Amino acid sequence: MVDFDTDLFVIGGGSGGVRAARVAAGYGARVMIAEEYRIGGTCVIRGCVPKKLFVIGSHVLDEIEDAAGFGWTIRQVSFDWTTLIANKDKEIARLELAYTNNVEKSGVTIVKTRALLEDSHTVRLTTGEKVTAKYILIATGGAPNHGPAVPGIEHVISSNEAFHLKELPKRIVIQGGGYIALEFAGIFNGYGSDVTVIYRGENILRGFDEDVRKHVRAEMEKKGITIITGCTVAKVDKHGRDLTTHLSDGSSIASDQVLFAIGRHPNVAHLGLEAAGVAINPANCGIQVDDWSKTSVDNIYAVGDVTHRTNLTPVAIREGHAFADTVFGKRPVQVDHASIPSAVFSQPEVGTVGLTEEQARAQFGRVDIYKTDFRPIKATMSGRDTRVLMKLVVDGVSDRVLGCHIVGDNAAEIIQGIAIAVKMNATKVDFDATFAVHPTAAEELVTIRTPVATH
Ligand SMILES: Cc1cc2nc3c(=O)[nH]c(=O)nc-3n(C[C@H](O)[C@H](O)[C@H](O)COP(=O)(O)OP(=O)(O)OC[C@H]3O[C@@H](n4cnc5c(N)ncnc54)[C@H](O)[C@@H]3O)c2cc1C
Repeated sequence: MVDFDTDLFVIGGGSGGVRAARVAAGYGARVMIAEEYRIGGTCVIRGCVPKKLFVIGSHVLDEIEDAAGFGWTIRQVSFDWTTLIANKDKEIARLELAYTNNVEKSGVTIVKTRALLEDSHTVRLTTGEKVTAKYILIATGGAPNHGPAVPGIEHVISSNEAFHLKELPKRIVIQGGGYIALEFAGIFNGYGSDVTVIYRGENILRGFDEDVRKHVRAEMEKKGITIITGCTVAKVDKHGRDLTTHLSDGSSIASDQVLFAIGRHPNVAHLGLEAAGVAINPANCGIQVDDWSKTSVDNIYAVGDVTHRTNLTPVAIREGHAFADTVFGKRPVQVDHASIPSAVFSQPEVGTVGLTEEQARAQFGRVDIYKTDFRPIKATMSGRDTRVLMKLVVDGVSDRVLGCHIVGDNAAEIIQGIAIAVKMNATKVDFDATFAVHPTAAEELVTIRTPVATH
């Protein structure tokens, strides 16, 4: 029998890697985890968590403005970017330490270095040390992808740098129409920057329900964000501290920062994948895996963004957990990737689960659409010009709710509950039989009686 240095070597200390390492150790496996940057990975260090903290802070000015309608007079409002960054950094450092402690407490050995595959059972660390492992888990995540290099690309920042800017930009150009681009657009707009979003497609939020895309765009524009679609950034010039972004339509925009959020690529480069025989999925350029997250090599698995399936933290965590259950817990678990709820923390927020109207119409014979678009109660007093969208996509034959799409305050919180119902195959009749919680925006989801369209 071959004697390995460890039972499991995990490459990458992010959402998926940490969960897998801890659960495997809980089953009694000897586990090592390598992290080249900071334990916690993208989500904790430069993704979901700092982003949400930024979003929360960027709502405050709206609250202050809305307060006037409720009788408040708030004088002398000021904002300090440096304080925001310092407090965010402190919280992220606290979380990193908590993650590190939890990993160590579970008996996992952390190596703070880059790791790559030497062969199917050997990992090489940048220290030169080699470790043999019975199983290897690749959980190296993804990284911002700037696309084909345009002249002046060196002046462009990604979401990584956006978390560490020394000053709040007075003007910022953001290229991208996906959730990260729009979240940063809302963040900077909320703190008072002049924001222009550039997106090459016809409309923002590609892949989301068409009504959601239109609604979010209209609401963002009402907040003063300029959205230019059908256009790309062709060149960025720098003169002193000022940047000029030249667009493909020949126009140009002056700004203090240019941020690209046009996609992320899986971290597969320089990992020794070829040496170990690990195949890449030609369809998405991530590591190819089967339903068990097993790669083309029997003892090597991959989870999370590096597989480029659904790039969300809860998915990476679930995949990491399922891997550990399957391989070390003698409890085979496959991850069901259907009906994954998600949110866009744009302003307004989006919460969505299940099929879009377009997807449902392509897959089902008869589809009923229930939809409402209304002024939220708060706006009646604050005077803010904003509307909420709620939409249910229903299978007209079985009555099953196939999708739910919400745009408005607390959409992310609301969709979490709705996601349970959708996952359980709830029908429209089940929704109708549920009592409303009054007065809320969410009660609309159980009180819309008549379809606005049947396809
Ligand atoms: C700005 C932003 C906002 C986001 N917001 C959300 C959100 O609101 N909700 C949500 O669900 N998801 C969000 N995500 C996505 C989420 O962060 C990822 O899906 C999740 O972190 C993936 O986890 P992972 O374990 O696959 O990879 P990661 O968390 O990226 O972890 C991979 C780790 O591997 C390390 N690593 C890479 N190569 C090596 C190597 N060779 N050796 C050692 N270490 C290595 C990296 O340093 C990293 O720490 C966001 C992402 C970004 C960028």
